[in-house]
Amino acid sequence: MEIQWSRYQLNPRRALNSLTGPTPREGCLIRVRDGLGNFGYADLHPWPELGDTRLDEQLLQLKQGLKSSQIEQAIAMALRDADCRRQKKSFLDFGEPLKNNFLISDLGQIDDNLFTQLQNEKFSTVKLKVGRNQSLDFESVNHTAAAGFRIRLDYNGCSSPVALENFFSKLSADVLAQIEYVEDPFPYSEKAWARISDIVPLALDNEFCRVPWEQLNSSAFDVLIIKPAKLNPLKAIELCQKWKLKFAVTSYLDHPVGVIHAYDWALRLYKDYGSMALDPGCLTVNHYESNSFAAAIETSGPFILKNSGFGCGFDHLFEGLSWTS
Ligand code: MG
Repeated sequence: MEIQWSRYQLNPRRALNSLTGPTPREGCLIRVRDGLGNFGYADLHPWPELGDTRLDEQLLQLKQGLKSSQIEQAIAMALRDADCRRQKKSFLDFGEPLKNNFLISDLGQIDDNLFTQLQNEKFSTVKLKVGRNQSLDFESVNHTAAAGFRIRLDYNGCSSPVALENFFSKLSADVLAQIEYVEDPFPYSEKAWARISDIVPLALDNEFCRVPWEQLNSSAFDVLIIKPAKLNPLKAIELCQKWKLKFAVTSYLDHPVGVIHAYDWALRLYKDYGSMALDPGCLTVNHYESNSFAAAIETSGPFILKNSGFGCGFDHLFEGLSWTS
């Protein structure tokens, strides 16, 4: 199997989470040629801020024949892409469109106009990146609840048990009931997470690597976030079945190619494991300044509708890139 890559840069429109400012982000598209000579494509977009190995280091390792878990995932997705291209099928042929959550990474964006627009576009769930400013978080959660949305909060591990118990004690029971889950509230600790999960459901995302799965007696969380960019979705489903967890598939705030691959997994997992599935969160391309890949994806409100071409799409755009190894 031959592997090549093509580097890209994405320019965030605003801060993307509690750990990162709006600085340009580096990643690369991966092209593999499978045993039958078919090309397939995927994305590699490390987040060193969240503990991923830096892009340059991963590519250096790849040159030396070593594959990080992120590269393993990218290759598996590129092979799936190659297979669909060979069969002349698009990923989006594999299921009915799913409703994605709307992600608000900068709470300063929130106002009545935005919420009216989201209501008109038929969004049901809003995910807020929180943890930078507790009073702004409080105001934003109440505002989102008053607009009638189901709420997901993501702290990216940056809050604390005391701060959160205090925060949730100030919210009304009605507002608390609208919170579908709270993702990565603070670094994983079974005891401290279990206490918070008595107040609101918790979701495990980037703290996955800190959970001692082999020694677990019961899970202190209710939901597993499946990011196909770094977690093998079928292994994740096994954990969900074992620990009776729901799951939500999300993209990795990555390139549009990564977004469509995540959505492909969402469609397939929802078909096979629908009773465990919550709405996905793959609608993230608008968090960056547009590029030709982002412009190729057709969306309507919470739905990803179309991306012409086979596999993940973007056929002519891949042909226009230069590839190195
Ligand atoms: Mg998260």
